[in-house]
Amino acid sequence: MNNLSSEDILRIRRDFPILERTVFNRPLVYLDNTATTETPRQVVEAIDDMYFAHKANVHRGVHTLSQEATAMMESTRKLIAGFINAPASEQIIFTRGTTESINLVAASFGSTLSCGDEIILSVMEHHSNIVPWQLIAEKKGLIIKVIPMAADGELDMDAYRALLTPRTKVVAVTHVSNVLGTVNPVSEIIAEAHRHGAVALIDGAQAIAHTSVDVQALDADFYVFSSHKMYGPCGVGILYGKRALLEAMPPYQGGGEMIKTVSFEKTVYADLPFKFEAGTPDFVDIAAFNAAISYISAIGLDAIAAHEEKLLAYTTPRLLEIPGLRIYGNAPHKSAIISFLIGDAHHYDTGLLLDKLGIAVRTGHHCAQPLMHALGITGTVRASFAVYNTIAECDTFIAATRRVAAMLS
Ligand code: PLP
Repeated sequence: MNNLSSEDILRIRRDFPILERTVFNRPLVYLDNTATTETPRQVVEAIDDMYFAHKANVHRGVHTLSQEATAMMESTRKLIAGFINAPASEQIIFTRGTTESINLVAASFGSTLSCGDEIILSVMEHHSNIVPWQLIAEKKGLIIKVIPMAADGELDMDAYRALLTPRTKVVAVTHVSNVLGTVNPVSEIIAEAHRHGAVALIDGAQAIAHTSVDVQALDADFYVFSSHKMYGPCGVGILYGKRALLEAMPPYQGGGEMIKTVSFEKTVYADLPFKFEAGTPDFVDIAAFNAAISYISAIGLDAIAAHEEKLLAYTTPRLLEIPGLRIYGNAPHKSAIISFLIGDAHHYDTGLLLDKLGIAVRTGHHCAQPLMHALGITGTVRASFAVYNTIAECDTFIAATRRVAAMLS
């Protein structure tokens, strides 16, 4: 599909029964898509189908059900490899989410680093791309450095270049900020990291459902994301990694599925991807994730991005007309995320009142306390858009925010 029409959006909305519900007797306007997207019928039916017709543990059964479940899980792996243009499906590791994917890299790749080695993060990272690095930094005596940003929410690339040294081993940066919406120049960030011999991990949690990602074109060493932020089931995450890095890294967890042979004297680990997939995976949701990727692909990421950009361009100037309202994150290249505050009003109060008007937005620090600190605030109200949101919903949201602003002023 190209350039989604309002009929297309209405057709898409019919796939999401939750969008038909009411909150406080008003039609739900769901604008918390950054936290999680809603799930289309096709994905829920795929989960049902797994439970009702194919459920058996994967990878170690000769019986039909187990082979079916294994084939369904592995077909998702292949589909994801194609979706991000990974060279091979063995480079797609299933985890529980972005958070676990980053923990895996930080613990495993991080264990190969030496005291005094440096890790560069950015000021706008989600806690899940900060704390795992702090854990390994404390253990190994690593140094964490932070890329600052300019007032509009763009990363300060000169400052980044100045932070790189021969001791820099990892650069871990978000593709899209979950608070500011800033789309970071990740190709350039990766290229600079490589020039200094460092590897680059890109947190794609907020990019993957909104822009096409080609891990080979980016030359990313690691790229991570979560299914539940891309219309898929909860509990599934992806770690893409370059083969040589993944092969050289020690396992993250030990257990069943990740071994070739075990004896009390010596265990030989399985090949990729299973070396990093200890225990029974969430094969039901992994299999159903296939339906989410097919769903996105059928609409087309370019069409999704264009629709979301339209919603952002429509809503931003109209919100700014509300007295006292200010938006955090005004980078020229930004995703459809609007973080704002109104006058002195507390973000919780604004969020609670919007909820009473049927609007679901997120309030608080958005798991980005260092960013809040840099902005000199404790939190924001955040509205974020997905493919099923409409201009009519934007109007409802703008009118509700105007009303709330008047109440709180
Ligand atoms: N990174 C970013 C940029 C995010 O926005 C989020 C979640 O909001 C995460 C990481 C963590 O994702 P998950 O909770 O699915 O592991």
